[in-house]
Amino acid sequence: MTKLPYERPQILKMNAGLMNKYGTRTEYEPVKHIDGIPVKTLIAKYGSPVFVISERTMRSTYRSIQRSFATRYPKVQMAWSYKTNYINAVCNVYHQEGSWGEVVSGFEYRKALGNGVPGNKIIFNGPEKTTAELELAINNDSLIHIDHFDEMYQLIDISDRMNKKPRVAIRVNMDTGIYPIWDRFGFNYENGTAWSALTKIVESGKLNLVGLHCHIGTYMMVTTAYSIAASKLCDLAWNCKTQLNTTIQYLDMGGGLPTANDLRGAYLPAKDTIPSVDEFAEAIASTILNYGFKTEDLPLLILETGRAMIDDAGFLLGSVLANKRLSDGRRATIMDFGVNILFTSFWYEHKISPAQDFTQHTEECVLYGPLCMNIDVVRSAITLPLLNRGDQVVVHRVGAYNMTQWMQFIQMRPNVVMIDESGESHLIRATETMEYIEIPERMPEHLKTVKL
Ligand SMILES: *Cc1c(COP(=O)(O)O)cnc(C)c1O
Repeated sequence: MTKLPYERPQILKMNAGLMNKYGTRTEYEPVKHIDGIPVKTLIAKYGSPVFVISERTMRSTYRSIQRSFATRYPKVQMAWSYKTNYINAVCNVYHQEGSWGEVVSGFEYRKALGNGVPGNKIIFNGPEKTTAELELAINNDSLIHIDHFDEMYQLIDISDRMNKKPRVAIRVNMDTGIYPIWDRFGFNYENGTAWSALTKIVESGKLNLVGLHCHIGTYMMVTTAYSIAASKLCDLAWNCKTQLNTTIQYLDMGGGLPTANDLRGAYLPAKDTIPSVDEFAEAIASTILNYGFKTEDLPLLILETGRAMIDDAGFLLGSVLANKRLSDGRRATIMDFGVNILFTSFWYEHKISPAQDFTQHTEECVLYGPLCMNIDVVRSAITLPLLNRGDQVVVHRVGAYNMTQWMQFIQMRPNVVMIDESGESHLIRATETMEYIEIPERMPEHLKTVKL
């Protein structure tokens, strides 16, 4: 028997985390404070995990977006998209800044009213509006954005019965060069349905057609889509004026502006690829301004920016529960927050910073949440300094959609805290309790006793 050759085994560092050909960042900065308050203090006071919202960032982002549009177009109005984050304190920061309310359900509508938004400054979008909700909106002189023909006829009926002429717009969907087309909401432009709806609305004599609305997508990465959308809405407005003798008072361009969050699997970081708000504003404003309206006939420009308004102002603070090795040797770190409260980790690779000093070592790891559920992956591959049990982290840009799409699954939802402009923290939504979770539950008589 011949002797087998011996090869010394080697341990190689796997480097699967490279984001692009230029390499990936290896240096990290701990993030120890949010608006001047130590992360440790926030966690000690409000528990872990905890959402923290910076009022200062909210207001500065609002002013910056508003300025981008208002410096380019004479009449601009923001409308806060409630579904993006409808915690009342959050909404009221934007309302204080001058934002109207944009809602997509009766529940959100009542929230806006409750926050003190006058009915005539609420935009009522969405495919579901009950008769009672439409009656309420009509009585409040809200702007009702019609989504489909069934709703149009329903509204005509209700208006006839109430003997009132509500202010309405239609939502228009269209080909903006982004595919697949978002065509499930509103009336299509290219096939003539939108025009047909406008004609029917005017001819009914029962509705006061005042606006046109579109919301072409979300996290849009090209400005031309907005130029195309704006020019198609201008076409419709022009035809309303010339053929239906109806002046369109506003064009509502919806939301959809991206944030600096990296999309899962994106080749380059978002910061390098997304256009600035100025560029989007330029695309929209120049299209409308160059269209040919007389200056005095220029429609009001409404924006329902959600994601880009709040994402940067939201942080999630959390703690490390444990570290372990997976069967293939990968390092896995288990956090006390998961997809139950960080829904956006399904499509974003959230930036995560350690909240304390650390050693030089980094290693690619999987970040799991605490749920006993395989899908609970916060980051499937992230290079981080080695975190130990009890260490804390800050997850960045979580302000949009997490505090509305979160689910009460396995764990309860945590505290939400706002840091005001003077650096003081306020609890704005308390962590859920067992009693709260069980309020809607009912126990049939025969199931009340259990004997084991
Ligand atoms: C969700 C939504 C928005 C906000 O969209 P973002 O992409 O978050 O800016 C605006 N308008 C309507 C009708 C929406 O449904």
